[in-house]
Amino acid sequence: MTARSVSILGVTGSIGQSTRRVIEEVRAQGAEIQVEAVTAGANLPALVEACRSLRPRFAAVADPALLLDARDALAPLGVEVGAGVGALEEAGARRADWVMSAIVGAAGLTPTMAAVRRGASVALANKECLVCAGPLFIEAAKAHGARLLPVDSEHNAIFQVLTHPERVEKLTLTASGGPFRTASKEAMAVATPDQACAHPRWSMGRKISVDSATLMNKGLELIEASYLFGFKSDLIDVLVHPQSTIHSLVHYVDGSVLAQMATPDMRIPIAYALAWPDRALVSAARLDLAGVGQLTFEAPDSERFPALGLCRAALNRGAAATTAISAANEIAVEAFLSGRIGFLDICRVVEEAMSELEGAESGLIAKSPTSFDEVAAVDQAARGAAQRIAGSLAAA
Ligand code: NAD
Ligand code: MG
Repeated sequence: MTARSVSILGVTGSIGQSTRRVIEEVRAQGAEIQVEAVTAGANLPALVEACRSLRPRFAAVADPALLLDARDALAPLGVEVGAGVGALEEAGARRADWVMSAIVGAAGLTPTMAAVRRGASVALANKECLVCAGPLFIEAAKAHGARLLPVDSEHNAIFQVLTHPERVEKLTLTASGGPFRTASKEAMAVATPDQACAHPRWSMGRKISVDSATLMNKGLELIEASYLFGFKSDLIDVLVHPQSTIHSLVHYVDGSVLAQMATPDMRIPIAYALAWPDRALVSAARLDLAGVGQLTFEAPDSERFPALGLCRAALNRGAAATTAISAANEIAVEAFLSGRIGFLDICRVVEEAMSELEGAESGLIAKSPTSFDEVAAVDQAARGAAQRIAGSLAAA
């Protein structure tokens, strides 16, 4: 691997920590990697620990109230410190060849765009920023010569086997089915946040874990795949594959189907994005197919998991609708995680917020946003609608 500089947005999260482990591993093999900037939300101890090993030049915390404590803790390590949204943006803007975008939610958009605008290679784990600002984000990457390296395991799998994009018949995204794949609707209605976050295959942050339990994650990934690879919604299928061994498939016009397989460990797609177009040596567990035994597949159940259909409808409707569905879902997931609404209410909130916005006289989601300000206006309107609907469900 050639010497390079990297930044990690969201270093304290699940993807951030896996990225750190990959960097530590390739550094131990002799790769010279300078870490330029790292960011965290509010977890100061985890940020300090990451800085001890990565030795970045700059660290940003999202919470401005933590500025002084962060300075006290990080100055002895020689790390410059900033706080607040401006500092997060600075972290993306600082010169680094490769930037891991792993902040959760639309909060990742501004810092990731700062990296896109200076033409960096952007390893994209954060799917919400693409779902939220899809066409504008892709156009900006093209205009500034930024290379997008998909890290979401399904998109990374497609990226690895997309040898002839103009000869593709369709894509298949695989889904584990999440913790409630075989659960009854009655059991889902009373599911707790801890049950929803107990993913059978992957260990992830709480927001994406809940999204995996509702299958909203797969719906957001459908939108992500459509924007990233330029395929319409009807050319992208979803297949439940509980073993999470095949990470996605590309079907070609000659009948060949190429898949990427690996153990479910995010260090594998992260290392692929870091080393691209080469490959890096990483110690993730090797795939033992005899041990896996059987690979099984089933169609998703749209009755118990309406999220997939809601996302497909939003994608067909246009870019403002995909901005809105991601924002409404963030609010609904927060309301569920804080115990205000039930598990099945998540999709109810999203569905009602979408119909409210579709019927709104403002016509806010009728046309695609032409600027990031317009994206922000749609995002805010969707959050407002979802908050109100979640509030009334909580009070009922
Ligand atoms: P996480 O919750 O573990 O970590 C999120 C990171 O973002 C943390 O560093 C947190 O401090 C930071 N953060 C949270 N709110 C913030 C805010 N308002 N401003 C700035 N920083 C903030 O999440 P994760 O599981 O690592 O997921 C990160 C992103 O990667 C998500 O978009 C998720 O969809 C995507 N992703 C994750 C996985 C996975 O295996 N974890 C797989 C594919 C894609
Ligand atoms: Mg994924």
